[in-house]
Amino acid sequence: MSLNLATPAVALAIGAHPDDVEFGCGATLAKWSAAGSVVHHLICTDGSKGSWDPSTDTAELVVTRQAEQRAAAAALGATGQCVFLGWPDGELDSGLRQRWEVAYWIRRLQPTVVLGHDPWKRYRLHPDHRHAGLLAVEGIVAARDPHFFPEQALPHHRPDALLLFEADEPDHTEDVAGHVDAKLAALRAHKSQLLSTMHIDESGDDADAQHKGFEDRIRARLEEHGLREGLVEAEAFKLIDNL
Ligand SMILES: [Zn+2]
Repeated sequence: MSLNLATPAVALAIGAHPDDVEFGCGATLAKWSAAGSVVHHLICTDGSKGSWDPSTDTAELVVTRQAEQRAAAAALGATGQCVFLGWPDGELDSGLRQRWEVAYWIRRLQPTVVLGHDPWKRYRLHPDHRHAGLLAVEGIVAARDPHFFPEQALPHHRPDALLLFEADEPDHTEDVAGHVDAKLAALRAHKSQLLSTMHIDESGDDADAQHKGFEDRIRARLEEHGLREGLVEAEAFKLIDNL
């Protein structure tokens, strides 16, 4: 198990939906932002299926979720861009067109470290998470080689490291003590997801208890990762650094 990458000059976190990045690596991004990294978000889908309410106006939801993602990035202290590729939620593919777009943004933003979903996590149900993970991996392969997509007319770019969150076989730990509150604040910024993702029903009279229960679950997971490495709180990843 390796511990703590050097603080990257630029980090790019690639998620399938608004909120995935905060769940997967929010505290690590908050730590790096506080240390001076420029942190960018790249969100592959429009998040239009992120509601349990059949009467939701999905076009409105897309706009809401972009605003929530920007607020969440700000809560992490991120000073970079939030890029939205806008593919329909639930229908993300990891085809050539999507790879072209991810490679383009890697070349434009020139991240030192890329973070993304582990596409090889076993028994993963949601196809968007699998495809977004593949796009992070395959986007790097295309971005690093000058003969891929030369029409982009951008210099090729090879990041130093890829960190996969929700990792099937984690082998890297980031100490995030002191940055858990920022992760929680960023998660709470995804207000439209409180019920469907965080299981917090704000219409009930025990909303405070439900918020507390959610925060306790997140803290418990970070403490569990930390305990394995003798730390207070940590996020765990699969590290790939021979890119
Ligand atoms: Zn997601």
